[in-house]
Amino acid sequence: MESKQFGVIGLGRFGSSVAKTLSELGYEVLAVDSSEERVEEIKDYVTHAVCADATDEHTLKAVGIRNCDEVVVAIGQEMQNSILITLMLKEMGIKKVWAKAQNDLHGKILSKVGADHVIYPEKEMGIKVANKMVANNILEFIELSEEYSILEISIPPRYLGKTIKEIDVRAKYGFTILAIKRGNQLLISPSSDEQFQTGDILVLIGRNENFKKLERDIG
Ligand code: ADP
Repeated sequence: MESKQFGVIGLGRFGSSVAKTLSELGYEVLAVDSSEERVEEIKDYVTHAVCADATDEHTLKAVGIRNCDEVVVAIGQEMQNSILITLMLKEMGIKKVWAKAQNDLHGKILSKVGADHVIYPEKEMGIKVANKMVANNILEFIELSEEYSILEISIPPRYLGKTIKEIDVRAKYGFTILAIKRGNQLLISPSSDEQFQTGDILVLIGRNENFKKLERDIG
C-alpha cells in the first residue's frame, strides 16, 4: 500500500469512478458525499466513506480531509458547492486540489479560487473520442495545451524496416519521437539509427496543427 492518501468529495459518476480507481491502484481513499445512498454504494471499495456536507468547514476537518495529499472535488451540478469546497481545501493547505468543471466559466472560477487542476470530463473525453474516430492508428491522444499534444500511434506499415533518420517525422510533420514501445520494452529518446519493427508503438510530441497532416498520411 502506497503512503499517499487521496480524498474524493462528490461521488457521482465521475467522483466514484476516480475513487474506485485510486483504491484499485492501492491508495488510501477518503470518499465524502452528502448523500447516504452514494456513500453506501462506495463504502466497500474505499478506505473510508463518510456521509457529510463538505461545505461545512468543521465537518471537513473532522472527517480528516487534511490528512489527504490530494483531493478531487467532483461536484458538477451544484457549482457553488464545488467552488466553496475548493476554496476551503486550498485554505486548509491541501497541496493539490483537482476540481471538476461543468463549463468554461465554472472552470475559470475554480482556477481563480486555487484549484491546481481543472477537469472537464465530457469535453476531454469528447476530444479523445473524436480523435480516435478519425484516426485508426492513433492509440492515445493527450492534449498538453492548445498548441501541443502527445500521440501514441501504431507503426505505419511503410515505416517498417526504416530508421528514425530515414522517415524524419520532425522535418516532415514537426513531431519528435519521445519513445518507442516494443513489447515490454520502452525505448526512451531512441537514437536516429533505431530501426522500426513490426508491433512498434511510437510516442510522439508535437503541434496540434501538424497532427492533421500526419493523420492523413498514416490513416
Ligand atoms: P456526476 O455528473 O459525475 O454524476 P454530480 O455533479 O451529479 O456528478 O454529482 C455530485 C455529487 O456530489 C452528488 O453525489 C452529490 O450528492 C455530491 N455533493 C453535492 N454537494 C455536496 C456537498 N456539499 N457535500 C458533499 N457532497 C456533495
